[in-house]
Amino acid sequence: MEVAQAAPSRDGDQDLVELVSRFILIGPPGSGKGTQGQVLAQALHVPHIASGDLIREIVEGGSERGLRFKAQIDGGNFISDEDVVAIIEDRLEQPDSIRGYVLDGFPRKVTQAELFAKTAPGLQLDRAISLVLPVDDLVERLSGRLTCLACGASYHVKYRPPAKDDICDECGHDLVKRADDEPDSIRQRLKVYHAKTEPLIDYYRNLNKLIELDATGAADAVFARLIVELKFDVAKKGIR
Ligand SMILES: [Zn+2]
Repeated sequence: MEVAQAAPSRDGDQDLVELVSRFILIGPPGSGKGTQGQVLAQALHVPHIASGDLIREIVEGGSERGLRFKAQIDGGNFISDEDVVAIIEDRLEQPDSIRGYVLDGFPRKVTQAELFAKTAPGLQLDRAISLVLPVDDLVERLSGRLTCLACGASYHVKYRPPAKDDICDECGHDLVKRADDEPDSIRQRLKVYHAKTEPLIDYYRNLNKLIELDATGAADAVFARLIVELKFDVAKKGIR
C-alpha cells in the first residue's frame, strides 16, 4: 500500500486503538479467525463472542427457545435471521460488553447485518476485519487439521501438533481427520463461503468500516499486522 506524505504514521499510539472496541471478524475456514478474535478480545479487555457457542448453549440449556432451535437444527433448517440477531443483541446488552466486543460468526450474511443495523443501531460495530488468504494456503491449513471428536479440540499436523501423535492433549482421545477436511471438500466449502461472504465484505466496505488483513503466516505475526493496520485505519478514518 502506498502511503502519502501527509498520511498518519503507522506507529500511532495504543489509546487510539482502544477507542475502537467493537469488532466483527470475517474469514474463511482455516483463516485463524477464532484465534485472532480471542487474542484481540484479550488485548482490548472485551468479550470474544462466538455465535455458534451462543446457539449451542441455548440449545443445551433446554429452554423453550432452545428446544425450538433444536427442532429446527435437527430438521436440517437454519435458525432464522430474526432469532440469530435477537440472540446477539441479548448478549451484547450484558454488562461485560459495554466497553466493546469481538464477534465471531455473526453476521454471516448481508440480511443479518442489515437487520442488526436496523434493530440495534446503538450496538453497531466500529470495524469489520476481513482475513484474507490465498486458497492454497487455506487448503494446506485445513487438510492438516486433526480433530478430537470427544472434546472438540483441534490440532494441526504442522502448525499445532499434539504432544503425542494422533492423541488429544486435552482428553486423551484419538484424533481424526474429518471427511470435510479433505482437499476436494475444502475447495467446495471455500467456494460456498466466498459466494455467501463476498457481499458482506462489500457491505462493510461501503460503510467505510472494512479492514482487509493479510492473514498469511504465523498467528502472532498476523496479530501484530492487525494492530498496525487498525491504528493506521483509525488514524485515517476516525473512530466512527
Ligand atoms: Zn479431546
